Amino acid sequence: MNELLYTISKSSFMKFEQCEKAFFLNKYQAHLKDKLSIEKQLTFSRGHDVGKLAQHLFPGGIDVREQTANLREAAQLTADLVAQNKSVIYEATFVHNQTLVMVDILVLTEHGYAAYEVKSSLKISSTYVKDACLQYYVLSHVLKKEVSFFLVCLNEAYALKGSLEVKHLFKKREVTKTAKTNLSYFETQVNSAQDCLKQSNVPQKPLGTHCLSPYTCDFYGYCWHGVFNQQKPTVFQLTKAGRERLMEWFNKGILWLEDLPDDLVAEKVLIQQKKSILSGKEIIAQNALRELLAPVNHSVCALDIEVFAPAIPVYQNKHPFESTPFLVTCVGQNYNHHYFKPFQEEDLTDFAQALLQLTKPFEHVLVFDASLETKIIEELKLKTTYVTQLEQLQAKLVDVNLVYRDLAYFNPLFQSGTGLKTIAQVLFPALDYTKLAIQDGLQAMHAYGSLAETTDLFKNEELQNQLIAYCENDSRVTLAFFNYLKTKL
Ligand code: SF4
Repeated sequence: MNELLYTISKSSFMKFEQCEKAFFLNKYQAHLKDKLSIEKQLTFSRGHDVGKLAQHLFPGGIDVREQTANLREAAQLTADLVAQNKSVIYEATFVHNQTLVMVDILVLTEHGYAAYEVKSSLKISSTYVKDACLQYYVLSHVLKKEVSFFLVCLNEAYALKGSLEVKHLFKKREVTKTAKTNLSYFETQVNSAQDCLKQSNVPQKPLGTHCLSPYTCDFYGYCWHGVFNQQKPTVFQLTKAGRERLMEWFNKGILWLEDLPDDLVAEKVLIQQKKSILSGKEIIAQNALRELLAPVNHSVCALDIEVFAPAIPVYQNKHPFESTPFLVTCVGQNYNHHYFKPFQEEDLTDFAQALLQLTKPFEHVLVFDASLETKIIEELKLKTTYVTQLEQLQAKLVDVNLVYRDLAYFNPLFQSGTGLKTIAQVLFPALDYTKLAIQDGLQAMHAYGSLAETTDLFKNEELQNQLIAYCENDSRVTLAFFNYLKTKL
């Protein structure tokens, strides 16, 4: 019989660290996992691209995963390459104590080996350090030489000037000391994980904040199904309570909103929200709503801007993940216009001109959560000569999202969110986002990025239309919500 190569992978170990039930289900009942979200898929693909680029830090290596997709062969090939003293190996595959890890970059140095784990983020989290420590645990047992371990992430201080300088795009942090100090912890945890897999029943684990931290668990939908699919309102509909508190109540056995005593809820807004949900009546705080919306007359449009914020900068002077606006839609009564920045266009002058032109006929410009628009306008002020006009535009902005700040408005049918998608779903089904090909900002960003890679004009046009439809929907829902709120005054 072919003996199992490994029982624990790096990603399954991280599941064990989060929750043993998730780890066990992942091994034996993987079909219960939630469908991989587009957001997660895009994050994986970004990680893959950044990892590939980081290989240029140590060029000329052999990529084990390009040689074989079979893990047993990958481990054997890695062992052969190590035996031959190859200087750089990518995706080096090792197994120790039934635990398999694939090291992004392994470099033979004069002191031994340097291993690099690449992360497509700006910050190194404690989860990344744990991930590195597990790899070190395996490497320190299988390699005969001293190992140093580094985490590599994107350098926020780097700005693209001329062509991409991979050496400066990334920064590294050594974690060898931490990994060495924690070797016994990982030995114990790996053994516990193996014992966990020998159980005949699924480990019992109460639901809690660990279901969402450090990552949303792959079995979230499965485990929480019974909680979120209830006929009666639950405490989880208190959107302003915060995750920690919701879990605290839930773990005290309080699921039904009607069972939540008012004295457990200190803030007035939460008590109001609770009353609204239980009575099924909207909150309409006339004074607050009037203060915010009454000054807005009929000369009004709704604006939405989409941005492109790639991990690897493509425009000059941009940092990793720094955003560049590429699409603006402006919708008013019998008015619907947009501007789409061609991917190759670096200069933002045309964008600023278009933004000013589109909003010029209106005295008031609605946005939903002004933070992005404000940031973009500030950037345009720095990079173009339209400072005065842009300041005038800033003065016209009205943030409709502020109706939630002191609960000037709340709708009891908003189950667990108050964003544009929820608003459309509950109040304007004709504008429901599920009908659109692109349904969120991350998808929009990815679609825009893909315009650079395709020369198919029809495909480009289709993507462009999908992006405009998505952005325009945001503008439409913002305007419709504003009009709806006006009827409540
Ligand atoms: S949803 Fe929570 S309890 Fe269920 S497996 Fe995931 S982390 Fe564990």
